[in-house]
This record gives sequence, C-alpha cells and structure tokens, in this order.
Amino acid sequence: MVAERTSAFTPPPRLLLGPGPSMVHPRVLHAMSAPLLGHLDPEFLRLMDEIQHRLRHVFRTTNTFTIALSGTGSAGMEAALVNLVEPGDPVLVGINGVFGSRMAAIVERCGGRLIRVEAPWGRIIEPDAIAEALQRAGSVKVVAVVHAETSTGAQQPLEPIGTLCREHNALFVVDAVTSLGGLPLDVDGWNIDVCYSGTQKCLSCPPGLAPLTLSDRALATIRSRKTPCQSWYLDLSLIADYWAEAKRAYHHTAPISMLYALREALCLVEEEGLDARFARHRLHSDALMAGLAALGCTPFAQEGHRLPSLNAVLLPSSVEEAPVRAELLQRFGIEIGGGLGPLQGKVWRIGLMGESSTRNNVLTLVDALEEIFLGRPGTGRPGPARESALQVYRKNGLHKDVRAEHAIRAPKKGNDRP
Ligand SMILES: *Cc1c(COP(=O)(O)O)cnc(C)c1O
Repeated sequence: MVAERTSAFTPPPRLLLGPGPSMVHPRVLHAMSAPLLGHLDPEFLRLMDEIQHRLRHVFRTTNTFTIALSGTGSAGMEAALVNLVEPGDPVLVGINGVFGSRMAAIVERCGGRLIRVEAPWGRIIEPDAIAEALQRAGSVKVVAVVHAETSTGAQQPLEPIGTLCREHNALFVVDAVTSLGGLPLDVDGWNIDVCYSGTQKCLSCPPGLAPLTLSDRALATIRSRKTPCQSWYLDLSLIADYWAEAKRAYHHTAPISMLYALREALCLVEEEGLDARFARHRLHSDALMAGLAALGCTPFAQEGHRLPSLNAVLLPSSVEEAPVRAELLQRFGIEIGGGLGPLQGKVWRIGLMGESSTRNNVLTLVDALEEIFLGRPGTGRPGPARESALQVYRKNGLHKDVRAEHAIRAPKKGNDRP
C-alpha cells in the first residue's frame, strides 16, 4: 500500500513580540532553503570565514576566535563556563534574574567556588558591589554577568566591570544573548574576554546557533587547563581546530542551513548599520512604553537601565495577566511573554528585537491591547495608548516606518544567495 502524501505543516500567522524568537526576515528564511554543501567543502569554509568576519563586526572585536557555536544561546553560556571553570576555581557571578541564576548553576556543576553578587530582580548589579566582592575574595578567576537580563528587562553596565576585571586579573564573561545586534556592545573596548549570544533574539535569525568570541587571554586559559573540559561537544579547544583557518579538522557536523541563515541575518545587520539599528531599537521601545503607560502599565526595570530589546512592565491590578495574553495570541495572533519565577502573573515581557522592532508592530500591539483593556472594538479612531505612542514618533520626526522601507528594499546584488 502506498502511503498518502502528508500535507505540509503550515504555522498560523504570528507576530512574535515575546522574549524570543523574534520575527525573521524573508531573506533569511530564503537563505535556509538553499541546497546543502558538505561541511568541509571549500565553498562552505569560505562562508565560515565570512561569518567570522561579520561576527567580529557586530561584537566589535578583533578576536581571532569568533565563531558561531552549534546550539542555542544556552550552549554559548554552557561553553563559556565549562571551558573556563575547573574544580575549585573562584568564580563571581552577578545574579539579578533567571539567566544570572543559570550561570551560577553551571559554575556549581563545574565544581567552581561560586561567589554570588546579587541584586533584586529588575535592578542592575552595582559595579561597586562587584568591586567589594573582588576585594573580599582576593583572587577570582572569572567574573560573569548578563548584559540584557531577559527575565527582568534590566540592562547591566559593563564597562566599569571590565575595568575591575583587568585590575584584578580576572576573566570577564558576558551574556549578550538579548543585546547583540540590538544595543551597543563593545567587546574589545570594554575588556570582555568571553562573550556569547543567540541567533533568535536581536539578530532575528531562527534559534540554533550561539555566536561566541574569546580573547587570546581566555583562549590561553582554556588551552592550559589542568583537567579536560567536562563537555566533549562544547570543548572549545577542539572546536577551535574546526573554525581556525589552518586546520579545519572535523569535530562535529556544522548545522549548514543555520549558518546560511546567520550569514544572511548578519548581512541585514550590516546593511542597516549598527548605530541605526541601536537607534531603531531605542525609538520603538520608547513608543511602546509610552503606549503601555497610557494603559496603566508601569516599567518594571530600574530607571535609566531599561532594555530597548525587552520591555518588562507591571500590569495594572485590574488586569488578569494570563487571559489577556492568551486573547492576544488567539484573537490577534500576537505573542508576548509572561513573567518568570517570582514575576509570574505580575509582568509582561515584550520583545522588540531585530525585525520585530518596527513602528507597525508597536502600533498593532498597542491597538490590540487598547481593544482588550478598554473594550473599544474598531471605532477607527486612535485611543489614548496609540496616541501616546504616536506622540513619541512625531517627536522623533518619524512619520513613516524606516524599518518597513528597509524590509521591502530589494536584496543587493550577490547578496541573495548564501
Ligand atoms: C534567551 C536567553 C538565553 C538562552 O538562550 P536559548 O537560545 O534560549 O538557549 C540565555 N541568556 C539570556 C540573557 C537569554 O535571554
């Protein structure tokens, strides 16, 4: 009997405004459908070189070891820590949300001596608190913090901590999963030794790769370990032999199509320009927050340290969190995030990352919320929340969506194939 042909999976249309994944540009989806190359094919190796070059640009680094690790952002986190931390090593971790807690958990699994520097969720880790902890601890091998704490919406200042790390001869590890490509990050300028990210947040690529960069100091530390790295798959001294230009030795099969996608996503970042991209993230976040304020939502994260890529707000007490979020998804096809851990039921986490950060998306969400909150279906007239968001755009002279223009612009010659 011949089996009947099964029909293709067709996902329902969705506007992704949660904590990731973000919207993906059609050029990136198209790149993923190109035929495969072998992972040691010279043409594929050339593509790897190009990706390394483009990643150095977004990380702002000259580090030779700048790669796209197989696996999601968590693989980047795990790789950073399991390669640097040996049993007994003192490691200082800044903990002010879910992702700092995860770093701490990995350090403990490595047998590291964990030094916790904590701040309440939503607040930053004060650099002074790190300075004090470093003084008290004497010698510390690694200091690890999260740049963009996706569970709270707080943006951690990095530069002063980088300086402290140099003074104390500690390696500086930074989680840039929700910041790379969305807000300023300067790996070399801020003395960051290990920085990792994920593709599905501000880079607007599907999940599956973790951009990662290591300073020579970090690489030397890894190469002079006394014990072998506990993870074989994430052992960066082995992975270096595949990504390093000279050797290209087989370690594991590279996820070919994902690398096509990342290459295209990095092209889009460069075509827009980093500074323009950062300004776009900031503008749309400001507009969204103005709209949400008009609906009675208040920003959750510490003032002056709020992420443009992840907007966390406390809901008015009259609003039931989960049912409204479900209605957004079911009636409007819009995904936003709820709170994690102690923030469950209390906050929303609205991602405006990469392709998701547009004027149209902000206004679409604000309109939908206005309809749900105020029960004012389709009067055609803008409500107070939309009006507040529009005011931000008017003040910035943005009468049309620059990002929408960017999105429909024809691909550059030679840029439409991986
Ligand atoms: C999303 C996220 C991660 C984990 O990335 P995955 O791709 O989900 O594995 C790590 N750190 C931060 C700050 C994140 O936002």
